Amino acid sequence: MNLKNLSDQVLLEKTSELAYRERSTLIELLHHLREIERRRLFCTLKYQSLHDYMMKHLKYSDDEAVRRISAMRLLKELPAEEVARVEEKISEGELTLTNLSMAQTLFNHERKAGRALDAEDKAEFLRKIENQTTREAQKTAQSVSPEFRAKKKLGFSDIEDDLLREKLLRIKGQYAHKHPDMDLMQLLHLLCDHELAPVAQRVRKNTTKAKAENKAGTKNKTEAKNKTATKAKAEIEIKAEVKTKAGAETMSETKKAQNNDRPSASNSRADTKTPAGISDPADREVPLEIVVLAESSPQSQVPSSTQPQSKAQIKRNIWSRDNHQCTNCGSTYAIQEDHHFPKAAGGEYTEANMRLLCRNCNQRAAIEFYGMPKMSDYLRPF
Ligand SMILES: [Zn+2]
Repeated sequence: MNLKNLSDQVLLEKTSELAYRERSTLIELLHHLREIERRRLFCTLKYQSLHDYMMKHLKYSDDEAVRRISAMRLLKELPAEEVARVEEKISEGELTLTNLSMAQTLFNHERKAGRALDAEDKAEFLRKIENQTTREAQKTAQSVSPEFRAKKKLGFSDIEDDLLREKLLRIKGQYAHKHPDMDLMQLLHLLCDHELAPVAQRVRKNTTKAKAENKAGTKNKTEAKNKTATKAKAEIEIKAEVKTKAGAETMSETKKAQNNDRPSASNSRADTKTPAGISDPADREVPLEIVVLAESSPQSQVPSSTQPQSKAQIKRNIWSRDNHQCTNCGSTYAIQEDHHFPKAAGGEYTEANMRLLCRNCNQRAAIEFYGMPKMSDYLRPF
């Protein structure tokens, strides 16, 4: 392409026209991306998400993909008449992709803070940031939400350690059903809470145990004290009795009396000691019968192969076989069990008929089986 012979005027006009066409193409692109997302078509190409598809298939950078997806979702949430106006502003260059993406980040921020903006508020904000530079638009955003930081929050893609990022994304995926759209900070909070909960529980348990032990210790001490006092009293009484006897009887009689007493005392000691030794609770607690019964229980003697597999066993086998990830795209996000042959059409819960799919691939499979018109009411919006 040789532009050297173009006049200055024509060169400027041509460039303006190309910039306009580029922005118009952008709008067209956003519409196409929206429809691809609605159909979950990226799943048929085995991509885990629209973002994954845009980076690997369409060759956008991470930031470029994020800005386009944000703008596309923002347009999707606006009323039709507002969409037409915003698209015109994009074509004219009065609303930039960067500002649109920032606006969507603000709207999400407010929604998560429980102050979701309605369609009118959103439209008003977009009017305010028309023709503003990125810096000016950030200030406008802070006038809506003072704590909103235009500075990009630390996200999963900022983690340079690939293995750590993969681990965190995997955990995020496991929580996807319960906590959808969890960001990195929310996930770290959840992990900390999870890690600290047993510690707090242990501290509570130890405090309760220490209190109980203190109480028991005081009780035992009092009992021991009472026992010692009783024993001492008894010894004094015996000594006094012996002394009285010794005074009254001769030495031989005393010896005889002692000899007569000895077997009795010895028997008494043996009577006390032997049964105590046998009946020691620690000795009795050996649960031999229970162990034998457990080993010879009729249930455990039946070979497992003759028993039909329980649903829980089938479930364990499926998750283990598919390595807890989507069998189509390999994602570990929002994993679900899927009937190859749908349940509604008579498909059974067997290892052969079941597979793991991520939510997107599962929805795409349903679209392919039932068709988009039938499925559109059931699909979770992005
Ligand atoms: Zn998948």
